[in-house]
Amino acid sequence: MSLTTAEPHRLPPDNRPADRLGRPLRDLRISVTDRCNFRCSYCMPREVFGPDHAFLPRSEILTFEEITRVARIAATLGVKKLRLTGGEPLLRSGLPDLIRMLNDIPGVDIALTTNGSLLAAQAPALVDAGLRRITVSLDSLDDAIFRAMNDAGFGVSSVIEGIATASAVGLPVKVNAVVRRGLNEHTVVDLARWAREHGHIVRFIEYMDVGHSNGWRLDDAVPGEEIVRRISAEMSLATADPNYRGEVAQRWRYADGPSGEIGVITSVTQPFCGDCTRARLSADGHLYTCLFATAGTDLRPALRNGARDADVRNILRDVWLAREDRYSELRSANTIPLEKVEMSYIGG
Ligand code: SAM
Repeated sequence: MSLTTAEPHRLPPDNRPADRLGRPLRDLRISVTDRCNFRCSYCMPREVFGPDHAFLPRSEILTFEEITRVARIAATLGVKKLRLTGGEPLLRSGLPDLIRMLNDIPGVDIALTTNGSLLAAQAPALVDAGLRRITVSLDSLDDAIFRAMNDAGFGVSSVIEGIATASAVGLPVKVNAVVRRGLNEHTVVDLARWAREHGHIVRFIEYMDVGHSNGWRLDDAVPGEEIVRRISAEMSLATADPNYRGEVAQRWRYADGPSGEIGVITSVTQPFCGDCTRARLSADGHLYTCLFATAGTDLRPALRNGARDADVRNILRDVWLAREDRYSELRSANTIPLEKVEMSYIGG
């Protein structure tokens, strides 16, 4: 990609670029590592990510300075929210230092998504560094089911301990649960009840055809509507308005009490591409404009060859201006076999 670019052809009123479908850039998800200590069958199946799998070498992974530079430049294009993810972000050593560096960027909110297994040990340092909220993935409270889903010997108690420690040090916790047909759909009510009792919002995610290695079939996804039906049979629910445009979860509040809510993320059965304002930065510095992308733009040549901030900004801006992704709206038998990049690499 050339470093000199034409003027943007579409600028919303606040002078921030919008893509070809009129969507502004608001969120940057940053994968800080492609490694994970879980082997969830729907994300990093052990057969594909086995002992011989070649993860990114250290030299190819962006440094904290490089990540912060991209984030700072992205903020000038409209990014308001940064989410650190992976892989498992808590495997990246020194992560609190990165949070501190990102916190110096004015006007951005920082979030982190983790599997929670290392959270009990790290939560205090994350808060000290300035993290103000966290999302923890926990697919089921049933220990046998959870172990079967993470396929790495982690029991529910390690994640619960992480969540409890995070809450104790003042981090609001959201819980993410992927629901997969035949595996954990019968445990969603228990998880919702537990989250409600502990003051956490739980969001149920339809199992998606991200990546190319999980052998996804439409029948394996449990529609959000069915999840809501299961929960509302036990605890009455009422729809709640989105907190902001582009919020990925549809919200439901408990109708029989003053507080508490659940969310469903229905990327398969009710796609929300029209409101998608997210870009993703892989651990090795590729920029992707869709979770289901097959290719990204390598920012490292610019970052490592002395490009000025203005040059890097032009690259980001041009990528965003050219964006027309809406994979989930176009999903069909023909798109499912596409060689999409893995979620562990691109950042969940
Ligand atoms: N390791 C961290 C974690 O477990 O939260 C961050 C990365 S993980 C890829 C981010 C989120 O993506 C997790 O909540 C995970 O359950 C979800 N995820 C991974 N593969 C998925 C799939 N095929 N469909 C739906 N969600 C998926």
